[in-house]
This record gives sequence, C-alpha cells and structure tokens, in this order.
Amino acid sequence: MTAQEVIRNIRNVPDFPVKGIQFKDITTALQNPDCLKWFRDQMVDLYSSKGVTKVLGIESRGFIIAPAVAMELNAGFVPIRKPGKLPAETVEISYDKEYGKDTIQIHRDAIGPEDTVLIHDDLLATGGTMAAAIALVRKMGVKKVYVNFLIELEGLNGRAVLNEADEVTTLLGIEVNE
Ligand code: AMP
Repeated sequence: MTAQEVIRNIRNVPDFPVKGIQFKDITTALQNPDCLKWFRDQMVDLYSSKGVTKVLGIESRGFIIAPAVAMELNAGFVPIRKPGKLPAETVEISYDKEYGKDTIQIHRDAIGPEDTVLIHDDLLATGGTMAAAIALVRKMGVKKVYVNFLIELEGLNGRAVLNEADEVTTLLGIEVNE
C-alpha cells in the first residue's frame, strides 16, 4: 500500500456537515483491510522506539486506530471524551470553536508524571481540538507529549497551534480543497 493508494480510499463528501466543508470520510478506507493495517503499521513504525506508555484517542474517530496501535506498542489506551461520558473523576478543558465553546475531559487517574503519551485523532484541520487536548495533558504533568493524525488538511496551518507538543506527525497530507 502506498500513501496515494490510501488517499484514493478516502471519500470526499461535499457540504458535510455544513455547506462549504469538504468532509474527508475515512470509513471507506477503514473497510479496506490493507488500509486499516497501513494506518496501524505506519503509526507503530513512528512510535515503537519512543517509550510511549499511553495512547490517548480523541472522541470519536480517534478511538478507531489508537487501541490497535497501543496494543502493538505495549502501551495502554485512554479515551479523551466529550462532557458527561466518563464515569469517574475527570479533568477538563474548554476551548473556542468557530461557533461557541467546546469541552473535553479525561479521567484524572488515567495519566500522570510517569507517562509518555501519544495523543491521536483522525484529522488535523484548524488544530483547535488537539491544542486543547495537549494543554489538558500538560496540566497532568506527563513526561512527553507526542501527537499524531492520520490526515493533515494542508493549507489551514493547523500545526501552528500545536507547538506545546514535543513532536507532531501526520500520515497523509491532503490539500484542503483536493
Ligand atoms: P480541528 O479542531 O479544526 O482541527 O478539527 C478537528 C476535528 O474535526 C477532527 O477530529 C476531525 O475529525 C473533524 N474535522 C474537521 N474538519 C474535517 C474535514 N474536512 N473532514 C473530516 N473531519 C473533519
């Protein structure tokens, strides 16, 4: 599998969820076992020597590949969720979105100073969600924060707001209007 072949398996849905947004639908790539394994294997190659102890997935598309990668790295999996979903004590952060505010939460006892974490989501657009996740995890005093996305929408410069991470990687770069 090449990156170009994987990109051809990602469906473009115009005007979803609102007019003017071209939605990158990864579900078509996930149906293809070669793409599914490619996502996992690329991430495992990038992080197998980084000492990652926990892989954190952002709800909800960040939950799909992260647990498979965590198993290969012999790390744990931790969900970062929308409010009201996690049952035990949480730490949270609110951040500005294009329209209004949003909040994400993590279990307080899920990570700590002994952890090197990899935060994963499917797609980097403006970077707002991931910037909040990095700040949340930093508050909990972890050793290192690595960040990974399957897709980077190029042209939006989302990386600019992720400078609190130790390293940011993306598997596929796609022009925002491609
Ligand atoms: P952002 O905070 O702007 O980087 O957007 C982050 C979240 O929105 C990611 O979790 C993506 O799943 C989703 N998202 C934003 N834009 C798109 C798009 N064009 N196609 C698919 N998902 C998107």
